[in-house]
Amino acid sequence: MNYVVRLNKRLNAEFTGRVEARESDGCLLLEGKLENWNDIVRAGNLAVHFRKKDTRLFLRNLQKDSRLGGVVNNIRLDAGKQSDEARRPMRVPAIHDKALEGQRPDVLVIGGGVSGCTIARELSRYKLDILLTEKEHDLAKHASSRNDGMVHPGYDLHKGSWKHHYNLLGNALYSRLCEELEVDFDRRGEFGCFSKPLFKPILYLVLLYWKWLGVPAQVVGKKALRRLEPGLKDDLVYAVSFPSTGVVCPYNFTIACGENAVQNGARISLDTAVLNMETNNGKIIAVQTNRGTVFPKLVINAAGVFADDIAAMAGDRFFSIHPRRGSNSILDKKYSRLLVRTGAAKVDIASKSAHSKGGGVIFTIHRNTLVGPDAVETPEREDFSVTRESIEGTIKKFTATCPQLNSGQLITCFTGIRAPTYEEDFVVCKGRRCANLIHAAGIQSPGLTAAPAIAIDVARWAVEMLEAAGQMVPPNKTFNPVRKRIPHISAMNDEERSAMIHHNSNYGVILCRCEEVSKGEIIDSLRRPVPCDTVDGVKRRVRSGMGRCQGGFCGPLVMQIIAEEKGIPLEKVSKSGGESQILCGPTKVHA
Ligand SMILES: Cc1cc2nc3c(=O)[nH]c(=O)nc-3n(C[C@H](O)[C@H](O)[C@H](O)COP(=O)(O)OP(=O)(O)OC[C@H]3O[C@@H](n4cnc5c(N)ncnc54)[C@H](O)[C@@H]3O)c2cc1C
Repeated sequence: MNYVVRLNKRLNAEFTGRVEARESDGCLLLEGKLENWNDIVRAGNLAVHFRKKDTRLFLRNLQKDSRLGGVVNNIRLDAGKQSDEARRPMRVPAIHDKALEGQRPDVLVIGGGVSGCTIARELSRYKLDILLTEKEHDLAKHASSRNDGMVHPGYDLHKGSWKHHYNLLGNALYSRLCEELEVDFDRRGEFGCFSKPLFKPILYLVLLYWKWLGVPAQVVGKKALRRLEPGLKDDLVYAVSFPSTGVVCPYNFTIACGENAVQNGARISLDTAVLNMETNNGKIIAVQTNRGTVFPKLVINAAGVFADDIAAMAGDRFFSIHPRRGSNSILDKKYSRLLVRTGAAKVDIASKSAHSKGGGVIFTIHRNTLVGPDAVETPEREDFSVTRESIEGTIKKFTATCPQLNSGQLITCFTGIRAPTYEEDFVVCKGRRCANLIHAAGIQSPGLTAAPAIAIDVARWAVEMLEAAGQMVPPNKTFNPVRKRIPHISAMNDEERSAMIHHNSNYGVILCRCEEVSKGEIIDSLRRPVPCDTVDGVKRRVRSGMGRCQGGFCGPLVMQIIAEEKGIPLEKVSKSGGESQILCGPTKVHA
């Protein structure tokens, strides 16, 4: 019996005839109407499950065979019954001007997350007119800042998947890249801990499996674990150490890639949302944005949770994104000693869930402890709110391995939204039905790790496609991979500080006491190649306001510097762009 028939039987049984599956143009199309978002996701997962069983269509062939698409889930949410679950439309910037009208870039990159920025940087190795459009007021505002910052070793990934392929390559690239971009990176390793001795005999087989996957791993006994990580719970009997795990600041890395791309000739247009496309004969002819219509030769889809919408605009939707929330807590630095040597630690392998590694306790690159994330399906692609349930749930879960954790140590929390497809793999390929499109889609975890490797392939294909269309693409002879960071006074020794302050006295004025950030750093952050003019933008670049007081002390001072540097009234300074002004009128001091 054909798998579609079997699948329809099952869908019929579960959803009483309200959902139907059929094959269309190499994709598996789901149609119907359901009242509950989780049921819609369940139908998508069932579709993949039944398809996977059909050996002809085994998932690993999916992207290697251009005739095959994925599951396209068009089941509509019956908003009448649960209107709070109806998906809200994409947030679009309020700006409407003609700043980009009529431009004809060689390559248009849609999305300023880590995928888009690493791709723009790779492309800038060639003499090309590159335009990156990002709908938010800054780079890395979606998943690329709202994640754990782990450069994963890849122990939980299936060999043959794109995730595994790009994760291994990306992990290996990080040391060199972070050196070139002057971004802090620490390959501290991580521990996967076990509390049940039962697992030990099979562990050695698993080690062989990891070797086969290309993931370095070693078993660490109880005594050694206690010595290396005294903060972990006593009942952990042993751990597996993954020495290739690293930690990085995800938004610093993304912004650094964006800055380096701009230094090498790429252009970045913030507050610019792609709204629609005009296609002709399987090619994108024009791309409409809120800042005018552009006419690119080639388009790269790196739009995160909106990547399937972009694919649909280009007539090339062969996958569906089903957003999955994940919330994390950040603890006060006072408690950063919960983990000592390894710093980055994924704790308790038993916590792994079906489609996520299960979160962990992580010692971030900035020496905070981060706890989470969880994994919750949601129809909302931009709801970054945090629930008490998520935070308490993850802290409770990880006290099982790190007993000193408690919610009183928390200084802030955040939510990120992953962008998985139903196949739970990356979609990194040339367009199936659109000749001048490349997708870097479905980039859920470990997308931060994989991005530099994905970017190399995407840039190579872009050059091949442009050359095949008759354009000469010479290398950019002036390409410089090095990007200089903003100096951090807190990381300097006395001699270095004194030299820095001698050179620029603003570095002697400390404005953020929690994180020890000077006025000089704040001013520098406002003069970088990618524009920054908001309190959050400064915070993400130099960490003012990231400490225990969360900007209570330095916030007004940062606002004042922004107003002076940008020549705008204080009440026009915004938290994160758009309508997020902090003051509603002149203050006593500045009236
Ligand atoms: C909670 C959580 C924890 C994670 N932890 C890790 C980890 O530790 N290690 C790891 O390797 N990975 C991790 N990930 C995954 C990683 O964060 C993502 O895979 C990665 O950031 C995806 O980057 P991206 O550029 O593809 O997408 P995004 O960062 O989402 O960027 C897409 C961008 O496109 C823009 N955009 C969308 N539509 C349009 C449009 N129409 N016009 C213009 N712009 C548009 C968006 O505004 C957005 O900025 C985690 C993810 C989450 C959510």
